[in-house]
Amino acid sequence: MAMRIDQALVVTAADTLPSPRVHLGNPRTGATLRIQQTLIAGAREFLRAGGAVEMSHPIIGPVTDPGSRGAKQADIDYYGHQYKLMTSAILYKQASLLAFDRIFLVAPNVRLEPIETSSTHRHLTEFRQIDVEVAGANRDDAMALAEGVVRHAVTKVLVECAADLAILDRDPAVLEAFIREPFARVPHGEVVRRLRSGGYPQAPGTEIEWEAEELISRDASAPFFIAGYPKGSRGFYDKESTAEPGTLLNFDLIAPESCGELCSGSEREFEYAKIITRMRETGENPSKYAWYLDVVRNGIPASAGFGIGVERLTRWVAGLDSVWQATAFPKLAGVVSP
Ligand code: AMP
Ligand code: MG
Repeated sequence: MAMRIDQALVVTAADTLPSPRVHLGNPRTGATLRIQQTLIAGAREFLRAGGAVEMSHPIIGPVTDPGSRGAKQADIDYYGHQYKLMTSAILYKQASLLAFDRIFLVAPNVRLEPIETSSTHRHLTEFRQIDVEVAGANRDDAMALAEGVVRHAVTKVLVECAADLAILDRDPAVLEAFIREPFARVPHGEVVRRLRSGGYPQAPGTEIEWEAEELISRDASAPFFIAGYPKGSRGFYDKESTAEPGTLLNFDLIAPESCGELCSGSEREFEYAKIITRMRETGENPSKYAWYLDVVRNGIPASAGFGIGVERLTRWVAGLDSVWQATAFPKLAGVVSP
């Protein structure tokens, strides 16, 4: 795997991670991992009850999604071919709808995130997503499903993990209040207006910056959706609105308590010609995506889906300072670790 690491930054960031013996021996880690197990079990229970079939996707392949915000892909030599470690399962999720109308994965992702993310408290270089895709669904369906998964998983923790929440000093009443009401849906433009009127210089028509996301997350009284990110901020597979060209039919779910983004989702581009156009617009070379385009050319269902970050969800539910605490063997950008 090709990876260059700045030694000075490695030392600084490594200081923030305890050894495996200290981390795994800490009762707080045990409580956190039991909560995580319960969250995954809750998500699985909810999705299977709704008719979704659990699949798995390859971890290595000839191409992965283009990514964003400066995350790099990790290469692997596959019998003389340059393969990638998956930064997300999106291409396989769309193709999997050829087998089933509703699918989900608990999918590992590897992203070589920029060095500066080692101090955001929100970024790992290896993490998992509860990844869902539903044929024939629209954005509202996907948001409702994501909300259902989160509410069911958190409720299961409240029912089954009282002792673990106590170890972590996490007040169950606070958590319960967060999921009591339906999650609000706020258009991207409205979030930009609120940020700017509060004095934050968020540029319109672009991705919400990490600092800004932390601010709106800190001020939120419950998880909420931001809907309709501008084209250019996301990958070619997020469908563009025909009613509002330039706006994508996508969403993020933002957690309260400064935890930021928990989940991203979207209706998908599924028509061959549109996908090619969007690839070109986003600077992607279609020839890299041969297997995927081959599948798409012969027809895949219209769909919508999302991915919930397992460690991000755990961090929020367990009330942790940082996302690395929500994994047994944390990997932070630039940190040499097990
Ligand atoms: P994305 O495809 O970037 O929208 O990622 C989907 C979800 O995975 C996000 O909403 C996060 O919950 C989670 N996620 C993305 N990047 C990271 C990361 N570097 N570390 C931990 N979780 C992440
Ligand atoms: Mg996202």
